[in-house]
Amino acid sequence: MKEEKRTDIRKQAKEVLKGKTIDLKKLSSGDAQNLVHELELHQVELEMQNEELRRVQNELEDTRNRYSDLYDFAPIGYFTLDGNGLILEVNLTGAKKLGRERAYLIKKPFSLYVVPDYKDAFYSHLRQVFDIKTQTTCELRIVDNKGTIFDALLESIPMHDSDGNLLARTMMSDITQRKLAEAELKQLIEKEHEARTEVQAARKLDSMKSMFIASTSHELRTPLNSIIGFTSLILDGTSGKLNPDQKEQLEIVHTCGKHLLSLINDILDLSNIESGRIRVEVCEFNLKQIVDEAVTNLNVILNEKKLELKVDVGDINMKSDRKRIVQCLTNLISNGIKYTEKGSVEISAKNIDNNVELSVTDTGIGIETQDIPKLFAPFVRLHTPLTYRTSGTGLGLYLVKKLAVDFLGGDVGVKSEFGKGSIFTLRVPVKLEGHSMKN
Ligand code: ADP
Repeated sequence: MKEEKRTDIRKQAKEVLKGKTIDLKKLSSGDAQNLVHELELHQVELEMQNEELRRVQNELEDTRNRYSDLYDFAPIGYFTLDGNGLILEVNLTGAKKLGRERAYLIKKPFSLYVVPDYKDAFYSHLRQVFDIKTQTTCELRIVDNKGTIFDALLESIPMHDSDGNLLARTMMSDITQRKLAEAELKQLIEKEHEARTEVQAARKLDSMKSMFIASTSHELRTPLNSIIGFTSLILDGTSGKLNPDQKEQLEIVHTCGKHLLSLINDILDLSNIESGRIRVEVCEFNLKQIVDEAVTNLNVILNEKKLELKVDVGDINMKSDRKRIVQCLTNLISNGIKYTEKGSVEISAKNIDNNVELSVTDTGIGIETQDIPKLFAPFVRLHTPLTYRTSGTGLGLYLVKKLAVDFLGGDVGVKSEFGKGSIFTLRVPVKLEGHSMKN
């Protein structure tokens, strides 16, 4: 306690006791002793009360400091505004956000720091608090003393000070990050919507494309079969003898017709596969049997080229889509024959960890390393003299890859040495699980 305050209290006490002094001489020694004892007790009591007062005072001081810390260093800005929007109080965070010293801001209009486009929003926010006297919020943009702009959320509560004046307790939080996240989310949603629309449009186009292919293929195949059939008959000499020129020209018509038909068949097949119209049909069969079947289909061109054919396929029983394996195998063997001028084509099969590895090895022209990644894309035909002389659509390997991956649960790979030959390997599970059997 300060010295002046203590003497002041002493003076006041003297006033109270004026005229109440006890004449000690009139007291007996016993009474005097009791009085001294009583006084001593009072003194101890007073000291204890004093001590308690000091403790409470310290506690109060601590609490006040804690509150002022909480106020000043809160993560959001606290402002007390009057009815004209002047700043009466501001915590340290608020002052820092506006880029000014706290003392500078006192009696300054808060609107100085509101971005012009948002001033109207701020004034109507103030009216809400002071005229309608309700708690209110608004989002606006604040520009600090250095010109940096940030998004802010203002939340104001009407309150009265000790003199009964109406004030606003305004909390200001920086919501720039939230706004950015919201904008990003909006963009993301818009993009997703766009992508979905694009996918829908693509699907529609795809199904129209499939329908177009299916109908035109049918329309094209019928006359083409007539062309192939009748040219074949004429070439056989059934309708009379042809001179060498006629024969040569008609053979060109016949070959072109067959090429066109195989192109149409491949395209139709692919269109059906890609549109999901074809289902996997699982059945049990012996691998050797279907290898023989594929070879029989190719006997004519095999004999024309005078190549040696080797088959090394053991007794492997499979449960898979028979038709699709024959289709893959026919494509790989026919390529082996087409792109080999002398030597052999060998078909071998091994069962490795419940997967069949079916390889077609040829001693043909081989493939250059840089061309290998292109092979399984649609309409790819490599630039070699033999490719120019051989008919093909560039769809065979693409079809094999699609069937192997999408239908047979496997894959197809290639190893090749340019000028020496190639090995194409179809790897599929011995038993294709997860598909119902075709009766
Ligand atoms: P294509 O109808 O032209 O044979 P594919 O898709 O079956 O179409 O094959 C694509 C290309 O890959 C062929 O044009 C050829 O250049 C090359 N190719 C395929 N198989 C072989 C092979 N066994 N040896 C060498 N080149 C091959």
